Amino acid sequence: MIELVELIERSMKNMGNVEKVVEEKATQLVSIAYREGIYVQISSGYRSLAEQARLYGKGRPFFVWKGKNYGKKGKIVTYAKPGESIHNKGRAIDFFLVSKDGRTALWKVDERWHRVGAIGKSLGFSWGGDWKTFKDYPHLELASQKSTSTVLKRGDQGKVVKQLQQQLNQLGYSLGKYGVDGSFGRITELAVSQFQKDAKITVDGIAGPITRKKLKEFVYPGKPLKTGAKSETVKRVQKVLDIKVDGQFGPKTEAAVRRFQDNSGIEVDGIVGPITWRYLFS
Ligand SMILES: [Zn+2]
Repeated sequence: MIELVELIERSMKNMGNVEKVVEEKATQLVSIAYREGIYVQISSGYRSLAEQARLYGKGRPFFVWKGKNYGKKGKIVTYAKPGESIHNKGRAIDFFLVSKDGRTALWKVDERWHRVGAIGKSLGFSWGGDWKTFKDYPHLELASQKSTSTVLKRGDQGKVVKQLQQQLNQLGYSLGKYGVDGSFGRITELAVSQFQKDAKITVDGIAGPITRKKLKEFVYPGKPLKTGAKSETVKRVQKVLDIKVDGQFGPKTEAAVRRFQDNSGIEVDGIVGPITWRYLFS
């Protein structure tokens, strides 16, 4: 029978440079499972950005990162681009089970895998086996504090999704009949894809840190800008329209907005509402 210290040693080696708290919890996980006769080994933990690029490139033959082609044929193994995976932050680990003698890896997801997921959750991890859209059974991660580092995708629900939908809505992306409902469905996915296309970033319908940062940059001020307005936001608009930047929405600004709307093929009213805003800043 394999000894617990051996499993822990192997796991430590594979985890690499994860955060201290993750390392401790991983060790606890291996120990608790061991007492129940489940032999867990951590297969990976910290992952560099280049390693992430290699993984993301699998199944995406044309994927280029930092001028280098990482694309490969095959099956997609991750939806996280370099920098988007919690592994890149040292807050995630992947595990697998081994046979009693420690010699054979066991990859069949059975009730023991589910039990390890449950132990992980009791230690504060989220388990990839619970994900709705893309099951990642070996994956355990410790939630990060910053909300914009969360990757939002189809199947997700809650306050952060609502926030995302509000931003999309304000920018004039249609959310269909359900509107801002806090549930990331097909329509939200389409809206995110459309935004990504407009913002000229990778189009995958998943709102990761890059997409969410871009959204923040583009987000519409809340009410239409029209003649008489005076603000920093007017300056932003004038800059894009390539006219005199004085922050005052006067006749010249209005005329420039009309020209811009006409050229863009959208309704010409001289007012910067959500749709005009979106055309201006994407
Ligand atoms: Zn993982």
